[in-house]
Amino acid sequence: MNDLVALSVASEIYPLIKTGGLADVAGALPGALAREGVTTRTLTPGYPSLLAKLETVTPARDYPALFGGPARLLDARGGGLDLFVLDAPHLFDRPGSPYLGADGRDWPDNALRFAALSRVGADLAKGELGGFVPEVVHVHDWQAALTPAYLHYDGGPRPGVVLTIHNLAFQGHFPASLLGALWLPPRAMSIDGVEYFQGVGFLKAGLQFADRITTVSPTYAREIMTPQFGMALDGLLRARASSVEGIVNGIDDVVWNPATDPQLAQNYSALRVDQRPRNKAALQQRFALATSYETPLFGLVSRLTRQKGVDLLLDSLPALIGHGAQLALLGAGEKLFQDGFAAAAAEHAGAVGCVFGYDEALAHLMQAGADFILVPSRFEPCGLTQLCALRYGAMPVVARVGGLADTVIDANDAALGAGVATGVQFSPPDVPALSYAIERAIGLYRDVATMRRIRLNGMRADVSWRGPAKRYAAIYRSLAKVPR
Ligand code: ADP
Repeated sequence: MNDLVALSVASEIYPLIKTGGLADVAGALPGALAREGVTTRTLTPGYPSLLAKLETVTPARDYPALFGGPARLLDARGGGLDLFVLDAPHLFDRPGSPYLGADGRDWPDNALRFAALSRVGADLAKGELGGFVPEVVHVHDWQAALTPAYLHYDGGPRPGVVLTIHNLAFQGHFPASLLGALWLPPRAMSIDGVEYFQGVGFLKAGLQFADRITTVSPTYAREIMTPQFGMALDGLLRARASSVEGIVNGIDDVVWNPATDPQLAQNYSALRVDQRPRNKAALQQRFALATSYETPLFGLVSRLTRQKGVDLLLDSLPALIGHGAQLALLGAGEKLFQDGFAAAAAEHAGAVGCVFGYDEALAHLMQAGADFILVPSRFEPCGLTQLCALRYGAMPVVARVGGLADTVIDANDAALGAGVATGVQFSPPDVPALSYAIERAIGLYRDVATMRRIRLNGMRADVSWRGPAKRYAAIYRSLAKVPR
C-alpha cells in the first residue's frame, strides 16, 4: 500500500522553534505517523532562527506580492523533518518570539503574518506545487486555521482538513476592517463564515470549515463544549460535536528515557528503580535543599501563569512545608509569581528552592529526582509534564481537568485495590483541595510499598506517540476516502 500523503501546517515545530506543546506535537507526529504509513510535509514560517537551522533548502515557488511583500516557498529539510518553509522577510524576519515583539505584545500585523501561512497552506493543499499533492491537510491552532476557510472560498476540489486545538485560549481575533487585506471575500463576513464578535476569528473560521476537529484529550474535548471552558466557542463546538474528538498527546520516549537520559545524575529503569534516589540527592543539592532521602520532594516544572495554578501552589505552601516536605520549582513567567516563590525560598531556606528560567536539561533531572510532580492547572488541554513524570517514576499530583484527568489514575481505594493507581488527582482546582492532595501524597510517601507500586505503574504506562499516531492515521484515512 502506498503511503498516504499529508500536509501539516504549524506556526512552530520542535526542534526548530518552540514556545509550547504545539511545537512538540507538530515535531513528533510526522515520525510517529511514518510508522503508520503516512508521509508528512510540514509548512512553517521562515523565522530567522528556523532558517538558520535548515540543512537543505531548494526554492520551490515565488510569491511576488504576498500580503505586502515578496516571499518564497522553500522546499527544505531540518531537524529531521521534511518541510515547506515560507520565507517572507516582511512578515517573519524578526528577532525573538514567533508571536511577540521585544515589548511582550503581539506583533501588530499577526493577522497578516498567519493569514499568509494559511493562504500558502491552502495553495499547497490544492496541489498547486505540482509534485506535491496532499491527500489530507492537518492544521494546528488559530495561526493555521484560515487554511480551510481559504479552501472553502476558493471553491473547487480540495483534500479533507483536520484542525487540532492545542489551547482554546488563543483564538486569533482581529478587526473586521482587515477582511479585504486578508484576501477574504465580502461574503465571508457572516455568522457561518469567518465573522466572530463583529471581527474576523481565525480559530472560529477553522472550526466552521474543517472537516474534523481534534483536541489534545477526550476530557478537554468535552470541557470545551461547556460555557465554563468554551471561551465563547462552546456553542460552535457543540454544533460540530459529531466531528470533534480528543486524542491525548504522547511524548518522545527516546528523548524521555530514564535508562539513557544524559541529563541525569544516574540512569535507571523500572527494573532498577532502586538507583533513582541518586537523582533526588543531585536535585536537592542543585536547589540548595536539605539532602535527605526521607523528606518528600515535590517538583514543579511550568510556565508561571494563572492557567497553571501556580498561585494555588503558593497559597498551599504552608501545608507542604508544615508536613515536612520540600519544593523544587523550575519555571518562567509572570513576575508576580516569580517574586512570590523567591520570597518563599528566602523564608524557607532548605525547604523551598527555585530556578527561574527555561532549562530543558534541568527539567529532565527534576523528573528523575522529584518524588512528586505537581500540575495544579485550572485548565489543561493535555499537559506533557505529567506524562514525563509517569515515565520517570515521579508521582504526578494533578488537578482533575483536561488531559490531566485522562492520563493520571488517582490512588483512591478502588484503584489501589485493583493495582492500577499512578498518581493523585484533586478537584476543584483550589487551595483546600490542593493542600489536601499534597497531604495525601505525603501519606503515600510514608507507605513505602504502596509508593513503589504506584511509581512502577506510572513507569510502565504507555505515554508514547504510538497510540495517538494510530488514531490520527485512522482519521486521515477516513478523510482521504471521500472526494470533496
Ligand atoms: P504548556 O504547553 O501549556 O506550557 P505542557 O505541559 O503541554 O504545557 O508543555 C510544557 C512543556 O515544557 C513540558 O514538557 C514542560 O516540562 C516544559 N517546561 C515548562 N516550563 C519549563 C521550564 N521552565 N524549563 C524547562 N522546561 C519547561
